[in-house]
Parts: sequence; C-alpha cells; structure tokens
Amino acid sequence: MFADLHMHTTFSDGTFSPEEMARAANQHQLTIVALTDHDTVAGCARMGAECARLGIELVPATELTAEIDGIEVHLLGYFIDLGNPRFLTNLVKFQEARQNRIHEMAARLQRQGVPLKAEAVFAIAKCESPGRPHVARALVQAGLCNTVDQAFDRYLKKNRPAWVPKFTISAHDAIELIHHAGGLAVIAHPALNQSDDIIPTLVEAGIDGIECFHTRHSTAASQHYLLMADHFDLAVTGGSDCHGMNRGKPLMGSIKLPLVYVEALRKRAAARREKPLNAAA
Ligand code: AMP
Ligand code: FE
Ligand code: FE
Ligand code: ZN
Repeated sequence: MFADLHMHTTFSDGTFSPEEMARAANQHQLTIVALTDHDTVAGCARMGAECARLGIELVPATELTAEIDGIEVHLLGYFIDLGNPRFLTNLVKFQEARQNRIHEMAARLQRQGVPLKAEAVFAIAKCESPGRPHVARALVQAGLCNTVDQAFDRYLKKNRPAWVPKFTISAHDAIELIHHAGGLAVIAHPALNQSDDIIPTLVEAGIDGIECFHTRHSTAASQHYLLMADHFDLAVTGGSDCHGMNRGKPLMGSIKLPLVYVEALRKRAAARREKPLNAAA
C-alpha cells in the first residue's frame, strides 16, 4: 500500500480533473493521495468525493510559492483545515496576483510582437490559479508557438522576454500561515532549488518536513535528503508532481511512498494542533 503526496489538477496547472486524478491514483493502486494545487484548495472537495467512492484517502493540501534569502521555494501544506478563513483569504490574494501576472505576461508578449490576449489564457486556464503553463498552452493553441516547451524556452522561462516575477510571500509567513490553518509545512522538491543553504533557515522558520522522494530526484538526491531529514528531525514526504498530460505522460505512479511516512506526518500534524500556535516548533 502506497501514497503519492504531490499532484496538480485543472484547479491549477494540471490537465486532469479532480475525478480523473482520483481514478488515475486508483489505477496505480495508491491508497492515500494529497492534492497540492498551486495556491488553491478548491479542487479538494471534488477529488475527496471521488477518492471516497474508490476507497482512497485524500489529504487536503496545497503548494505555495515563497521566497527565502532571495531564492524561490515551493512549500507544501498538508492536513490543511479547508475552512480556515485567514488561510482562504490569503489564497485569494495569491490567486489575484497570479491573474494580474497573466495580464502582465500578455502585455510583454504583445510588446514582443506576439499577439496573445490575456483573455485567451483565461479561457484555457478556467481556474482561479492560472500560471505559465496556461500561457504556454494558449501560445500553442493560437499557433504562436509549436510546443509548450518552445513557449517556455522562447518567452516564459526566467529572464526570457515575457517572464514576470511571481508575487511571493516570505517562507516565514507561508509556514506561519500553513500552521495557522492546522497544517504542516514541507519543503517541495529540494533538489530543484538553487541551493541547500536555505534548509537550515527553513528549519529555524519552523518547517516540518522535506519532500525526499520526487519524480525529478535521483536516487542519490533522495538519499541525501533522507539523511538531512534525519539530521534536522523533519518528516519525510514524497510525490510524483503529476500534472496530468502536461509533459507528454502522466507522472502518477512514478513515486510510491510507503504509508509509514504518511502516518508519521499525520502524527506530527496532530501533535502540532495540540500545541498553542505561538509555541516554538
Ligand atoms: P508558475 O507557477 O506560473 O511560475 O509556473 C510554474 C509551473 O510551470 C511549474 O509548476 C511547472 O508545472 C511548469 N513549468 C515550469 N517550467 C516548465 C517548462 N520548461 N515546460 C513546461 N512546464 C514548465
Ligand atoms: Fe505546476
Ligand atoms: Fe513545485
Ligand atoms: Zn507541484
């Protein structure tokens, strides 16, 4: 019995609906999954319903973009209270920033002579949390790029003409927000970050876990982060980061996390909820 604690649906930049994602998890015999759409928890209810029908447990979660020491980090929030008002208000703020960023990217493309309208991106995204993959798909659909990869390479990657920095909160604030909503904060795909130097700072900021297993982590990288988890007494998580058909084939099934890790995570979440919020980690 295995888990996958990292995936994205049409509620952010994935291509599977929550129901399709639940069915894909079932086909891979996963028994616990977490939906980690960027800056939203709006897909959790629908995915939870389909998971329940299939006998799968859904862990309510999200993936936030944060900044620490000038470096972008992705923070996963697990076992989030989906009704927490301050948490939800902040998600709306992040979503509005994403929508403004789409307008800014479209304006930059137009200045480059690429006639893409923001509305074309929103028509494809059909969600509150649009991102660069939607801009890339819109460019392909309008015949302005041949492939999504080409759209990223030409326009959307960091420091390319249509790249716009994303509004981000400090990692400190993101961790506090996740804790406020009863959740645990986990460093996503650390091997994809620029540096490990930020990890001790994240530990000081109260991070609870580290995503040791990820589709784009080598075996050596996973081992490295397992040792680090042990050293800093962090929970260990893992996930496929499946975005549906985004990059050719679904990544679901590429990570099969043993359930002991999920049970350890659950225990930590329960212990944290019993502590007063301002108590030291
Ligand atoms: P954003 O959150 O808008 O900055 O977009 C980041 C998302 O874009 C990531 O979560 C990936 O899903 C996707 N992405 C990043 N780089 C590429 C790439 N070169 N090709 C396709 N998708 C990408
Ligand atoms: Fe994504
Ligand atoms: Fe990420
Ligand atoms: Zn992700």
